Amino acid sequence: MPDGSQFQLSFHNATTDHDLPLITDCFAGGGGASTGVEQALGRAVDVAILEQEKISALIKRGAIFYVSHSGGKDSQVMYLLLTRIVPPDQICVVHADLGKIEWLGTQEHINSTIDHPLNVVRANKTFFDMVRHRAKTRPDVPSWPSSAHRQCTSDLKRGPIYKFIRNDMKRRGAKLALNCTGIRAEESPGRAKKQPLKLNTTLSKAGREVYDYMPIHHLTAKNVFQVIRSVGQKPHYAYGKNTRLSCVFCIMGCDNDLKHGAEQRPDLLKEYLNLEDETGWTMFNGKSLRERVEVANA
Ligand code: SF4
Repeated sequence: MPDGSQFQLSFHNATTDHDLPLITDCFAGGGGASTGVEQALGRAVDVAILEQEKISALIKRGAIFYVSHSGGKDSQVMYLLLTRIVPPDQICVVHADLGKIEWLGTQEHINSTIDHPLNVVRANKTFFDMVRHRAKTRPDVPSWPSSAHRQCTSDLKRGPIYKFIRNDMKRRGAKLALNCTGIRAEESPGRAKKQPLKLNTTLSKAGREVYDYMPIHHLTAKNVFQVIRSVGQKPHYAYGKNTRLSCVFCIMGCDNDLKHGAEQRPDLLKEYLNLEDETGWTMFNGKSLRERVEVANA
């Protein structure tokens, strides 16, 4: 809220780790709607993403929900669930385009799974520009971003999306918004500690109130795939072999995903390896992308 206090989101009836088709009740706050659905279906409602009272208050106050969509499964489900509770004219979908280092077909996939226009934003530099600049200005430290220093996320994704939100709110005359991301607790201990809804102190200022919101923070990967299946959609084709959809060669990618990336994009692999040679720094702390791919191939 404006004073910086936080909402606590509830996860109603968290009996989700099974293969039954999911029954998704976004309005469940433990009230009558959930009970009605449960009675009609003869089993418990599985997913309740929000505390109805609090989110309803934000919706009623005219909040704009900026859905940050990467093309990944979590973004896909976040959008699906939000569209069931938020009026269409209060949803705005935005994608930070990282150019050729993304999986091919990402924007096509997003467009095929949303009903809103897709706003595409770009940083004024590329991932490769960023690594080269660092090599030039700080030759004494690793040129590549890392999980501890995710300059790629802040400069290439968060920065352009924040800029978009500021400009779009101004254009609409909006005073209240939510910056929605598909972050889930299961992904890492660090993410598990995050508050699903809290004031964004960077975007908020006098006359502008913006919250960071993680609508599916409580869901497991299994839940997410179930929701996608339950509405007759498919995840991006890269999930055929990948565990995550990120940059093709993500600084936090597992061996399996890096190997799949190398199979699909040998041209791009070469560019990364050339950049390791050019900067004199390996992409992973002491390990080359080549080694990671070769380990996965062994
Ligand atoms: S997907 Fe990975 S490499 Fe790409 S911007 Fe995010 S953290 Fe960086």
